[in-house]
Amino acid sequence: MTLDDRYAVFGHPIKHSKSPRIHQLFADQTGQTLSYTAQEVTAEQFTTTATSFFTEGGKGLNCTVPLKELAWAFADNKTNRAQLAKAVNTLAMQADGTILGDNTDGCGLVTDLMTNHAIKLAGSNILILGAGGASRGIISPVLEQAPQALVIANRTVTKAIALAAEFQRPDVITGCGFSDLNGQSFDLILNATSASLSDELPPLPSGLLAKNAICYDLAYGNKPTEFVQWGLGHNAAKSLDGLGMLVEQAAEAFYIWRGIRPKTASIIDLLNAERNA
Ligand code: NDP
Repeated sequence: MTLDDRYAVFGHPIKHSKSPRIHQLFADQTGQTLSYTAQEVTAEQFTTTATSFFTEGGKGLNCTVPLKELAWAFADNKTNRAQLAKAVNTLAMQADGTILGDNTDGCGLVTDLMTNHAIKLAGSNILILGAGGASRGIISPVLEQAPQALVIANRTVTKAIALAAEFQRPDVITGCGFSDLNGQSFDLILNATSASLSDELPPLPSGLLAKNAICYDLAYGNKPTEFVQWGLGHNAAKSLDGLGMLVEQAAEAFYIWRGIRPKTASIIDLLNAERNA
């Protein structure tokens, strides 16, 4: 174990990423020695830059917006959950020189919802906003928890319908546009659009929240996102952002790379305290 054990997160934009700090905290906690940096990489640059990174001895990469589908295509082999998601957020150099692609977003989200926030998914009516890479990553792990219904609503309606159809469970999962949500209500709304990154909110009808409903924005920031504020303004029982998911998906990536699972609760508390300071 030396600092030569190099890891990085690629994305665009990337400068506000908390991943280098999280992985350093994991390394300190578990006694691992490694380096983890954030690198601005556009979609056009991705394949060349990732190839160089691994050729020069890099051990693992995280890939974020807008690179997850490219990372899926880049990986030599994929885990089952990455295969289902058709999106990869974690690349790992294997002993035989091949690159494994995994998707830890879904398990990160489900762990944050169920373990950290005691939110029940079984039997719930769940709405996912957005049909991009993050949405792809979370659908299977959410379906595994046996919700009563899972609706995917997206700005580009055809993408939502096509994504829902991929999972071949028309009894549970359907796709639609935002305007089709009129008159429906949900126990849990997951915002997997990137609207919050530009301080925007998808056009959501009123009456969307069932009694004691919970709102969860996969995006996070130093102040409550537009969607978290929308949830609070519509009397959600809880309106949470994706900081816990970020730490949990990172812990799963760390486990894939280093074979040791860091404890997350104290790190989520620390990051929350820092942004509230
Ligand atoms: P993508 O670019 O793949 O997809 C973006 C999605 O957002 C598309 O469905 C797009 O709709 C929709 N969208 C974008 N802008 C708007 C808008 N103004 N109004 C309505 N819909 C909009 O991004 P990802 O799926 O990779 O990421 C989505 C979000 O999830 C990001 O905020 C990201 O930070 C967050 N995330 C958080 C993680 C965590 O660990 N906390 C992990 C992974 C993602 P259309 O198809 O019509 O273009």
